[in-house]
Amino acid sequence: MNPAVEVTSLGYCYPDGTEALCGVSFSLMPGACVGLLGPNGSGKSTLLRHLNGLLPEKPPADGNVRIHGEAITAENLPSIRRRVGLLFQNPDDQLFCPTVEEDVAFGPRQLGLSEAAVAARVQTVLVQVGLAGQDRRATHHLSQGEKRRACLAGVLACEASILALDEPTSDLDPRGRREFKALLRQIDATKVIATHDLELVVELCARSIVLDHGRVVADGATLELLGNEELMLAHGLERPHILQHVHPHHPHEAH
Ligand code: ADP
Ligand code: MG
Repeated sequence: MNPAVEVTSLGYCYPDGTEALCGVSFSLMPGACVGLLGPNGSGKSTLLRHLNGLLPEKPPADGNVRIHGEAITAENLPSIRRRVGLLFQNPDDQLFCPTVEEDVAFGPRQLGLSEAAVAARVQTVLVQVGLAGQDRRATHHLSQGEKRRACLAGVLACEASILALDEPTSDLDPRGRREFKALLRQIDATKVIATHDLELVVELCARSIVLDHGRVVADGATLELLGNEELMLAHGLERPHILQHVHPHHPHEAH
């Protein structure tokens, strides 16, 4: 079986010369749920944007990113974008239609489905994300949590099999965070979650990858990485309170 995501020696420099990624390699098998950790500016968002071909500016890349075994090229870009759903750090950058229904329908409409099929998909995913009956609401009137869920509905409506989530709980209150985590847990996709929400990582991600200065500095079992105080501090992170009483070499005691 091909990995769902395979990144090999990926480097990227922004046009202004900022080196944002350097020699990044990892692969994710289908169904994996992986935390992407690292301080601000470490390259998390830049990396996620490479997974659905938003970066580099002009595909083809040289096969550094493969999705289900396929290198991203100009030809398959639309299909890659559909299969890899990227949730932006700021939902206001993602929602651009006046109503929830139009926004969620946008992707499936692009696929050329019939209006009946589009409407059916929209209803299904709105139920899935807990926004049933909210389809006529104005996207700019939604709460932060609802905006996040509307964005998620949009990528689910395209039947994305890989979700790249950029700090999905950063602006949510505790209840919103709990709801969003429960929702993610139910979605049967390969997930990469860039986040500073270590509770989310502990609860959802068996594996984590730590970036710093655009490089992978650790990749392994989440509880072992988070329990390694030296590693966390060296890369601008902290050992989460929920692990405070767990000995780093016995991460299973966290349960
Ligand atoms: P993170 O998501 O981990 O905070 P980013 O991927 O946003 O990190 O940023 C990685 C590096 O790239 C940082 O040094 C950041 O300043 C730089 N960067 C991000 N976006 C741009 C851009 N559009 N132009 C130039 N540099 C950028
Ligand atoms: Mg970011």
